[in-house]
Formats: sequence, structure tokens, C-alpha cells
Amino acid sequence: MLVSELKPWPEVLSYLDGEQSIFLVGCNGCAEACQTGGETQALEMKQRLLEEGKTVTGYSIIDFICDKALVKLKLMAHEEEVMAADSLIVMSCGIGVQATSAVIDKIVHPACNTINLGGVQGKWRGSERCRECGDCLLDLTGGICPLTACTKGLINGPCGGAKNGKCEFEPDIRDCGWHLIYERLKRLGRLDKMSTIVSPKDWSKMQPPRHLRPTIMWALEHEEEKKEVAAK
Ligand code: SF4
Ligand code: SF4
Repeated sequence: MLVSELKPWPEVLSYLDGEQSIFLVGCNGCAEACQTGGETQALEMKQRLLEEGKTVTGYSIIDFICDKALVKLKLMAHEEEVMAADSLIVMSCGIGVQATSAVIDKIVHPACNTINLGGVQGKWRGSERCRECGDCLLDLTGGICPLTACTKGLINGPCGGAKNGKCEFEPDIRDCGWHLIYERLKRLGRLDKMSTIVSPKDWSKMQPPRHLRPTIMWALEHEEEKKEVAAK
């Protein structure tokens, strides 16, 4: 299970500058269990947005948002509401935000930070990866994680070694993550996001937070880990 916490509200609100209408996406998997992305939290988010004068075109809570095929299918049922929105807010771990971004040509904002507790994504092992960094950057990168898509985990643009869109490390098999981010933002007409300078990352947020270590979630993750090691 991937553990998520809601981002501070001012941060979420700052993503919406210049945008009026929003479609909400939640997750009935890990995010529902963490009380960050189930129906209750989506309705609370809707209310907060309405109070800020925003329009909420609709919402969808998807069972396992890490499954791109499922996300696409569920969002097809809300096509008009999604197309009427300027952007989507996704209330889930970083995988869910990336999976949603991969299937819809709209700007997608993360509502949560994914917290390191040693878990794995819910049900579906897609190509998206999250390092549970505790301070999600996906708003700035078109929904592609710079920590996992870039071999060096660079957060402020490419290293300069890419050629023809391929990473300088294993160019035969790896795309340059920052080339992918550039192409995605260009397609969405939001290359302006690339001019934001991200402050040096606080890597201590990648440590499992002390307040979650005495919890049942931590105990269960580590029980699973022990079983996996014993089975090898
Ligand atoms: S920036 Fe990447 S590693 Fe950090 S929470 Fe978002 S998806 Fe996960
Ligand atoms: S070539 Fe691209 S993906 Fe590879 S390390 Fe440089 S910026 Fe990162």
C-alpha cells in the first residue's frame, strides 16, 4: 500500500491560478484507506473549491487508479465533464496522478504527497513509478515523475547529455525523462511550468515519518516484506 497525505490547501490552490473549472479524481484503493482520496475527501475538496469560487464539473472515484486501462474506462463515462474542465485534481499517491496524466490530455494536479512507508502500489504494476518522496512535484512536470523518469532524478531540467530524446545512460533502451516532460508540457501548452525553479529537495522527507512507524500500516508492510524475504 502507498501512503499519502493531503498537501497543504494553499499549495493545492496555488496550482489553480488562471483555471476556473476542475474535475476531481479519487482512488478507492490506498488513498481511500489513508483518507486522502475516497468519496468523503473528494466531496470535501469539492466544497472547498466551490467556496473559492471555482467550478467543479464532476468527480470520479476509481477503484485502483494505478491501473491506466481502468482510469481511461472510468473517465470515458465522464467525458463531457472532463472535457469541460480546465484541469484535473487527482487525490491519490504519485502513481495515480501519473496514470491519470498518461491517459488524458489535460493538466493534472496532485492533491497529495506520497509518504515513504516501504509499501508498493495497490494492484496494478504499470510503467509509472513513485519514490515516495513526501513532496510531490507532478504539478510542474506534466504528471511525469522527474525522480523516477530521469535516471539521475534531476528536478530542475535535463543534464545536457540526452541525444535524440534518449538518456545518456543506456540510450538504446531509455528515453530521457526530461525530454518526455518537455514534450508532455508542450502538448498541453504549459511549457511555462518549466521556468519554475524548484528548491533543493528535502530528502529527509523520504524517510518513513516517525509518527507513522508505530502504526498498523507500518507493521503490516514490514510483515509482508519479511514474508517475501523468507520465500526467496
Ligand atoms: S514527485 Fe515522484 S516520487 Fe515524489 S511523490 Fe510525486 S510521483 Fe512520487
Ligand atoms: S539524459 Fe535525461 S534522463 Fe538521462 S540523466 Fe540526463 S536528464 Fe536525466
